[in-house]
This record gives sequence, C-alpha cells and structure tokens, in this order.
Amino acid sequence: MDFKKYIRDIHDFPKQGIVFKDITTLLSNPEILNKAANELYEFVKTEKIDKVIGLESRGFLFGPLLAAKLNAGFVPIRKPGKLPHDVLSVTYELEYGTDTLELHKDSILPGERVLLHDDVLATGGTAKAALELIRELGGEVVQCNFLIELGFLNGREKLNGAAVASLIQY
Ligand code: 5GP
Repeated sequence: MDFKKYIRDIHDFPKQGIVFKDITTLLSNPEILNKAANELYEFVKTEKIDKVIGLESRGFLFGPLLAAKLNAGFVPIRKPGKLPHDVLSVTYELEYGTDTLELHKDSILPGERVLLHDDVLATGGTAKAALELIRELGGEVVQCNFLIELGFLNGREKLNGAAVASLIQY
C-alpha cells in the first residue's frame, strides 16, 4: 500500500521554507484511514501494552484507535496548562526557544508497558521529551510508533535506543 499518495505537501507552512506533511488527506479517506490504523497496530500487536500515550495534538488521532485495538488505556501528553489535575512537566529546546509538555502524574503506574504514538517523527525533540516524562513515572516504553518519519532529520537517534516503528518514511 502506497500511503504516500494520501499525504499532501504544504509548502511554507507553518513558516517560510518548511514543507509540512498534511495528513488530513489520509484521515478523510475511510479505506486508507482503516488500513493505516491496522498497519500501525500490526507493528505492536504481539506486545502487551497497558497505555498508549498520544502527543498533542495529532497523536490524539490514531492514539485512541490503537489503544482500543490493543485493549490498552489512552493517555494524552499535552501543552502547558491544558491538563486539569497534578502534572509532571518537561521543557525542551527548539530551534528557536523552548517548549513544554505535561503529563498527569497518576496516568501511568510504575512498570506499566507503554506505546508512545505521534503522527510525525521529525527532529525527535518532542518524542524525546515525552519519553523523559513517561520514564519519570516508571513507565516501560515498549515502542515509539509514528505514522510518518522524516528520516533525513535523524530523529530516531535522539530516542536513546527505544524501539521505533513508522509507516511512511521520507
Ligand atoms: P519533532 O519534535 O520531532 O521535530 O517534531 C514532531 C512534532 O511536530 C510532532 O508532534 C508533529 O505533529 C509535528 N510536526 C513536525 N513536522 C510536521 C509535519 O510536516 N507534519 C505534521 N503533520 N506534523 C509535523
């Protein structure tokens, strides 16, 4: 299945010089949406997973679908100030400036087996920060799972040896 046909390149979004991979064209096609969800599930279906962790905001699209297929819970990692209960925070470096992610402190129990999911692995900064939060709560990261991997940015090298699976590579 050539999933790339269903990804749209948007030039100069969100900034000049960036080619943004738009996944809405894949999501809106019922057959391809279903196939993509199944393939992401295939990567991890032999593992026992307790929690799927989705990264705001496009990790919330396939994350709950994967959790339902895996009989796991779904847990969101969010931008600051969005989660209502006690949170753990991590701040990480961007090309210009910093960003922060938050996770509810009671959302993962020590020893729980976790699948981290996001739509795109680019530089790996976001997923690396998320891994820090999960590990601080004692979660065991079984796999990091992405719809798209921008391989030329070498994001997986930042993920400290975690298992990485992606459906579409550039
Ligand atoms: P990273 O931290 O790996 O550089 O960037 C990954 C994060 O940025 C992900 O949360 C992802 O949603 C977003 N992102 C970066 N580039 C793209 C892109 O081209 N398309 C989409 N859909 N998201 C992107």
